Amino acid sequence: MALFGGKPSAKKGDMFYAWTNDQEIAKKAECGGAVTTLLKYALEKKIVDAVLVVKRGQDVYDAVPTLVTDPKDLKDTAGSLHCGSLLMAKPAVKILERNKGMKLGMTTKGCDVMAIQEYAKRKKVDLNNLLLIGVNCGGTVSPVAARKMIKEKFEVDPDTVHKEEIDKGQFIIEYQGGHKGIKIDDLEDSGYGRRTNCRRCLYKVPRQADLACGNWGVIGDKAGKATFVEVCSDKGADLLSKAIKDGALNAEAPDPKGLDMRGKVEGAMIKLGEKWRKRDFEVLSKDLFGTIQRETSRCIKCYSCIENCPVCSPSAEKLKGKLYMVKPGEVPPNPMFHMRRFAHISDSCINCGQCEELCAMDIPLAKFSHAIRVEADSAFEPKLGKSVYSN
Ligand code: FAD
Ligand code: SF4
Ligand code: SF4
Ligand code: SF4
Repeated sequence: MALFGGKPSAKKGDMFYAWTNDQEIAKKAECGGAVTTLLKYALEKKIVDAVLVVKRGQDVYDAVPTLVTDPKDLKDTAGSLHCGSLLMAKPAVKILERNKGMKLGMTTKGCDVMAIQEYAKRKKVDLNNLLLIGVNCGGTVSPVAARKMIKEKFEVDPDTVHKEEIDKGQFIIEYQGGHKGIKIDDLEDSGYGRRTNCRRCLYKVPRQADLACGNWGVIGDKAGKATFVEVCSDKGADLLSKAIKDGALNAEAPDPKGLDMRGKVEGAMIKLGEKWRKRDFEVLSKDLFGTIQRETSRCIKCYSCIENCPVCSPSAEKLKGKLYMVKPGEVPPNPMFHMRRFAHISDSCINCGQCEELCAMDIPLAKFSHAIRVEADSAFEPKLGKSVYSN
């Protein structure tokens, strides 16, 4: 494919290996630094007013959503954090609500893109004000679970870990005195590993974003040094073309073998997600309502599951006494409190896992709402697939 030496423009559907010309970004970047460079370019050229990214806080378990308005500050935000369990869509919506008309660039995993779409359907954000730089996503690990896993399974003091990554099916840590990797399959078979909603996630390449960036498919001398970029919209094509033409990024056509490999890895990850759905939902299907009743008997009615859900649109305050008919002073609430919520979002749960992640009582809420969503899809939109309870 003739590239930008000949000055053609990128278009939707194109794929590239891309790498930064900024040495400071290259040093910190996860692979080619394309994501940070594109966001920096968008800020410099005033395509956006601010960007929302993730920055390492106290340690590798502390992923902090960070709003950046000075392009110089972006180099400090390069690199991927897998032990954060953030939904970027939530801070993005708050920022846009407080800054009417602001143009915001942001990194988005699959669940972030789905949540943004849900907010857009509810008229909480205008997609025209967003530039979505997607990152492929194999999954995240809860910070508390990550520390426990590193201590018990890796037999390493979690406080000595200074880098973590997920590569070639392994969770890998670098710590004072060495590095170690364990296969994610082995970790998950022994009860550690990714968040349970991430295991069931089938949305590995966020093609509803403007660009989808990752490391899968980068092979040969560019392995680890370039970002694989798939162009998903005209907005993404325009940004990428301009950044390359102005010399911020380099790009070349992907190696055909790499392209093939990327397709195979994505397919394998989707199969793995389907396996987990089957495993989780089959057990649930034996006694869905009994399990919900038993698990939610620990509920302390903190409302965090409602407040943090991107598809529960009314505020928890409004919901307390109305939609869910909560009786004041009753703890745990009647199981119908939960059943009404599950019914209310049965057509829209995106399996982002926030309800479960932030539940004060560790109730596996996402598993319930996801199972109900998938079952409802199978019943009402049979073309989407067979029932999870039967296949
Ligand atoms: P950089 O220039 O280093 O920029 C990375 C950007 O990602 C920064 O802006 C940073 O703020 C942001 N970021 C860091 N952590 C998060 C987070 N938790 N949520 C949202 N944004 C974040 N690629 C694959 O091909 N296969 C995978 O399985 C895969 N899994 C991933 C899992 C996670 C949790 C994340 C965050 C990324 C994953 N990626 C995966 C993408 C890959 O790690 C790189 O982000 C991508 O290749 C871009 O590389 P880069 O050098 O251009 O990014
Ligand atoms: Fe990634 Fe999917 Fe988990 Fe979101 S739900 S963090 S996209 S694996
Ligand atoms: Fe996410 Fe839970 Fe809401 Fe589903 S119910 S969208 S998993 S917060
Ligand atoms: Fe109950 Fe957990 Fe929801 Fe709080 S987050 S209301 S404890 S189910």
